[in-house]
Amino acid sequence: MEKMLRIAVQKSGRLSEKSLEIIKNCGIKFGSDSRVLKEQASNFPIEFLYVRDDDIPTYVRDGVADIGIVGRNEYDEQAIDLAIIRDLGFAKCRLSIAVPNDFTYTGLSCLQGKRIATSYPHILAGVLKENKVTASFVQVSGSVEVTPAVGISDAICDLVSTGATLAMNGLREVETIYTSTAVMIGRNEMGDDQKSSILKRLMLRIDAVMRANNYKYVIFNLPEEHLDQVARIVGGMKSPTVTRLMEKGWVSVQTVVAEDTFWDVFEQLKDLGAQGILVTPIEKMTE
Ligand code: ATP
Ligand code: MG
Repeated sequence: MEKMLRIAVQKSGRLSEKSLEIIKNCGIKFGSDSRVLKEQASNFPIEFLYVRDDDIPTYVRDGVADIGIVGRNEYDEQAIDLAIIRDLGFAKCRLSIAVPNDFTYTGLSCLQGKRIATSYPHILAGVLKENKVTASFVQVSGSVEVTPAVGISDAICDLVSTGATLAMNGLREVETIYTSTAVMIGRNEMGDDQKSSILKRLMLRIDAVMRANNYKYVIFNLPEEHLDQVARIVGGMKSPTVTRLMEKGWVSVQTVVAEDTFWDVFEQLKDLGAQGILVTPIEKMTE
């Protein structure tokens, strides 16, 4: 029987949906019935283990799972020696210092001797040490935002994505000490050739999906005289595809454009007389 690569993903929470979505987009089929704790894909040798995100690094270290998807914050906090296989880019958040609205914040040094509540003592300790600040930690595993109001802390260090929860609790974010995204982790040595080759196949697909998400397919009409200038702007995978239009002096150009430069490129194309600019998502893309 063919071996299975076992992947640990968060059962329910901020990482779950996107973790499964990225694998689904690889054409891998599975039920993802939220009640099961373990299931196999029907068309790829992969098995899912649905667990609490805190447990994922230990499971991977101990071989209970072969790989896992977890927030970089959790991975760094636990400081377990594993390999980061890929930064998956989603679940963006930051670890920030927040203080009560009436606290005059002048920088990390003003936390000297204060009580800071956090679920990330390891990461925080590292940052404070670098800045030669000593503070005492109040370690809590949730609802960090209420600790100043109940008098057990002077400041907090917690994950933030929008800051709305902080504001609701009379706190303001004053400094970001760390940023995080979801990462795929694995052991430094998989220790099994068959599993290693499954992982390689999986990563080929994941990379294609991630690359596709970062690019758009763009088609537009252009006065031929501006073709050289446009080629310098858009590039494409090798170079743009150019086809002649029936109308004399006009060409149709097809190319891929990176998402983060898209609006820049769009404006430049407009300035060079591009018309009928059509933009479509790309589902998969290899090099
Ligand atoms: P579990 O029950 O699995 O232990 P949890 O409550 O510890 O779940 P979640 O709140 O679901 O965890 O967050 C999981 C991860 O999602 C975090 O470790 C972090 O990497 C990421 N994340 C993204 N945005 C936020 C946010 N605004 N607040 C907290 N975590 C966030
Ligand atoms: Mg957790």
